[in-house]
Amino acid sequence: MRSKQYSLEDYVTGISAGDRVMLGRAITLVESAKTEHTALAEQVLAALPKPTNTLRIAITGAPGVGKSTFIEAFGMWLIQQGEKVAVLAIDPSSAVSGGSILGDKTRMEQLSVSEHAFIRPSPAGDSLGGVARKTREAILLTEAAGYRIVLVETVGVGQSEIAARRMCDLFMLLLLPGAGDELQGIKRGIVEMADLLVVNKADGERKQLAAMAQAHYINATHLLPSNSSGWSAKVLTASALEREGFAEIWAQIMAYQQSTINNGFWFENRRNQAHYWLHETLMDGMKTAFYNHPDIQAMLPDLEEAVLSGKISPFAAARTLLEHLNFKQ
Ligand code: GDP
Repeated sequence: MRSKQYSLEDYVTGISAGDRVMLGRAITLVESAKTEHTALAEQVLAALPKPTNTLRIAITGAPGVGKSTFIEAFGMWLIQQGEKVAVLAIDPSSAVSGGSILGDKTRMEQLSVSEHAFIRPSPAGDSLGGVARKTREAILLTEAAGYRIVLVETVGVGQSEIAARRMCDLFMLLLLPGAGDELQGIKRGIVEMADLLVVNKADGERKQLAAMAQAHYINATHLLPSNSSGWSAKVLTASALEREGFAEIWAQIMAYQQSTINNGFWFENRRNQAHYWLHETLMDGMKTAFYNHPDIQAMLPDLEEAVLSGKISPFAAARTLLEHLNFKQ
C-alpha cells in the first residue's frame, strides 16, 4: 500500500498547530534520502514560524551515567513548570552497532506519554555529518511545533558531542560520583566543552562521593581557559532517580542564558551556528554531487589506477577531475 502524500500546507498547518504526528512525519521527510522529500522538507522549514525564545540543551555523559533517567525526570520537571520539551539524539553508531538508540521512548516511560513532550530517537546514518544535520533540522521543526525546550542527547564518547554543541545553546555534561575523567569514560575535551557539569546519582551512599566529585570538577574547571561565552562552567549535583537538584540546574541554565544574552554571545553563537551548518551542508552536498556525477564515475577508476601505479600524482588527478567539472582552484 502506498503511504499517503501530504502537501506543504498539510505539514505547515499541522506542525504550527502542534500536531505531533505531522511533526514526526516532517522529521521523517528530513531524514529521507530521496531528493523530493528533502526538497519538500526545505519548503516546510521555510514556511514555518521560527520562534527565537527557544532553548537548546545538549546533554551528554558516558553510558550508564543516567542520561535517559535524567532526561525523563528533568523533562517531566520542566513540563511541570509549564514547558513543552522535545528530546532528540545524535548517535551515529546506533545504526551500525544495533545497540540502544539514544532518545529511545522505551527508556523514557513518563515523558513518552506526556502530551507536552516529543521524543525522537537518533536518525540512522553512517556519517556523523549526515546524522547531525538531520538532528539540526529536526530541532527547527520541533521548535516550530511549540517545543520551547529541546534536549539533544549524545553518548559522551566522541565526535557527536562537537556536533551537538554546534547546534545547542548550552552544553551539559553528566558525571558519575567519585570517579576521575578516565574512569568516567569521557574524553577530556568534552569536560572542557561543558557549560554545566552535573554529578548525577548524588543519592544514598553516593552523596558524599558526589560532593567529592563536585569539588574535584570545580577545581578542574577553574584551570580551564575561559571560553568565548564569557561564562565559567558551573558544577552541580543531582539525583535523576530521586528527582533532586533540578531547580538549581534550571537556575544555572537561566543564569547562563541571561549572562550570554547580556554580553551578546547568545545570538552571535546562533548566527555562527547557522553559518557553520550552511557550509557543512554545502560541503556535504558538493561531495555527494561530485562523486555521483556520471563523468566522475566514469573517469575516476582509471585515474585512481594511474595514481596507484605512480603514473600521475594524486594532485594532478584531482585537478583533472575538478577542472572537468569546471571547478577552478
Ligand atoms: P544512560 O546509559 O546514561 O542513559 O543511563 P541510564 O539512565 O540508563 O541509567 C543507568 C543506570 O543508572 C540505571 O540503572 C538507572 O536506574 C541508574 N541511575 C540513573 N540515574 C540515577 C540516579 O540519580 N541515582 C541512582 N542511584 N541511580 C541512577
